[in-house]
Amino acid sequence: MRLLPTLAASALLLPLAAHAADPYSYAQPDQVKVRHLDLDLTVDFPHKQLHGRATLSLDWVNPTAAALVLDTRDLKIARIEGIDAKGHASALTYALAPRDKQLGSKLTIAAPTHPAKVRIIYDTSPKASGLQWLSQAQTADKKLPFMFSQSESIHARSWVPLQDSPAIRLTYTAHVSAPKGVRVVMSAPNDAKHPLNGDFSFDQPHAIPSYLLAIAAGDIAAEATGPRSAVYAEPSMVHKAAREFDDTEKMIATTEQLYGPYRWGRYDLIVLPPSFPFGGMENPNMTFATPTIVVGDKSLASVISHELAHSWSGNLVTNATWRDGWLNEGFTTYVQGRITEAVYGKSLADEEALLSARALEKNIGNMPANSQKLAPVPGDVDADDALSDVAYDKGSWFLRTLEQRFGRAAFDPYLKSYFDHFAFQSITTEQMLAFLKANLLDKYPGKMSEAEVKDWVYGTGIPKDAPLPTSARFDMIDAKVKAFTAGTLSADQLDAKGWNTQEWMYFLDRLPDAPQLAQMKALDAAWHLTGTPNAEIGMRWYIHAIAAGDKDVWPAAREHMSRIGRIYLTTPVYRAFAATPEGLAYAEASYAKTKDGYHPLTQQVIEGIFAKAKAKPAK
Ligand SMILES: [Zn+2]
Repeated sequence: MRLLPTLAASALLLPLAAHAADPYSYAQPDQVKVRHLDLDLTVDFPHKQLHGRATLSLDWVNPTAAALVLDTRDLKIARIEGIDAKGHASALTYALAPRDKQLGSKLTIAAPTHPAKVRIIYDTSPKASGLQWLSQAQTADKKLPFMFSQSESIHARSWVPLQDSPAIRLTYTAHVSAPKGVRVVMSAPNDAKHPLNGDFSFDQPHAIPSYLLAIAAGDIAAEATGPRSAVYAEPSMVHKAAREFDDTEKMIATTEQLYGPYRWGRYDLIVLPPSFPFGGMENPNMTFATPTIVVGDKSLASVISHELAHSWSGNLVTNATWRDGWLNEGFTTYVQGRITEAVYGKSLADEEALLSARALEKNIGNMPANSQKLAPVPGDVDADDALSDVAYDKGSWFLRTLEQRFGRAAFDPYLKSYFDHFAFQSITTEQMLAFLKANLLDKYPGKMSEAEVKDWVYGTGIPKDAPLPTSARFDMIDAKVKAFTAGTLSADQLDAKGWNTQEWMYFLDRLPDAPQLAQMKALDAAWHLTGTPNAEIGMRWYIHAIAAGDKDVWPAAREHMSRIGRIYLTTPVYRAFAATPEGLAYAEASYAKTKDGYHPLTQQVIEGIFAKAKAKPAK
């Protein structure tokens, strides 16, 4: 997933009292494990519901187990059946516990005779946290309604009753009914030539964790980008997106060279409507992506490098709990950098590494101590917040440090062997560390001590000797930011014509938090930042202009917020508005009009910003 910057600011420090194996799940895998899911779904657009039958194949681990415990959230259960080895079905009794705000409702199914399968017949809620339903008016082409899922971290349980823990892996098959003309895609091999007859079947033969269950349905066209890759999107978007991502095959081949074969068959990606709350989501065989990375010059293709990298780090070798999230995101951000370097050059890869490192340096000191650790104390952070920029950027920084100490000649084969050794397994931080000690630290003594490794993984902040890449371009921009804010260099002398997206992002990131109004006005007059179609630049521009008190940018900032539902690009602008009472009122009025178009997760973050601003009167 790519969701920066941190959601950790909103971390709910609640002690979680679920099963000890995974504090974010009620599942009891020491009693029984779900091995396969057979899903039958009907997509009901008018009622914003999935009508489902989930048949779970079970492996009873404990011979005296009396019940199957599942995770659910806001599901309406109609009935539950046990199915014996001969296929006979009989009703089972069950209890659905009251809803926990974070974890949902524990579903306990009495099954003392250990049926081979259990079938749950259910409906999802129109407000399911893992689904978004868009009316046809909320899509780009306005012909058909659209729906998509986002299961990571613990939202699969809002559309499928299951053991919703990344430690538990299952294969799945699915049959999905939808209105004629609608295309359904899932996180399994997809067929771009499938007729739009309302009748779709899927088979994911690899055992995956539940957070990689995914579905999307709507007016979706497809265009090939390579021998084993295609782009899916609304028809008006698909060609533009295919051009933006036509390096996909090059990226796959590059990663295979570094870390071994791509094991999933096809690698397709779908560009979702602008309300998709994240940059991308690495659903197997079908990455889900935000349209904000389709900018026309491939400058934001690193989101695709990131999601592709997850085919090794995350989907192949998976964090066993969300507390180990850095095993997914830190490793993936590192691999993403290596792909970017091979396909687009070292200078861009170094710029992206520096951008994230500088942002982390600025923010990490403001986080609660436990959130500053790669492997925080379990259960002390909300599952969604466990994936903060610490997991991504401190994690990848640690791997770049290992690379520097041991050299690529040793570190690249080591990482490849790590992916091989733990392929299709879910592992903890401690399993990763034991493998690191045996196969890197002890093999090449004197390069890095165990104490240093532990400081990176269990310590707060960033170790002092953490190596930073250098970028002559960024050094030049640092000098210009300094001269510009000091007033010795005027906006029109910045000579920014040749700056790429990352260089603009860096320049804006390095401005003071509340710059001078006259300087922001001059910057806009010289470089026309207001109204930019590039949302990465737009987000950074608007938050600085708003902080400087430039009310002329408000309508364009509001347009940016209304158009984009990606949490990372839209919520900082809300936060900037919320800093003054007048801005807060303006943002609230804007939100009231656009709320229905936002994903439930985006709504949650924005409403959190408003609540915080009101609790603490603005300066
Ligand atoms: Zn990711």
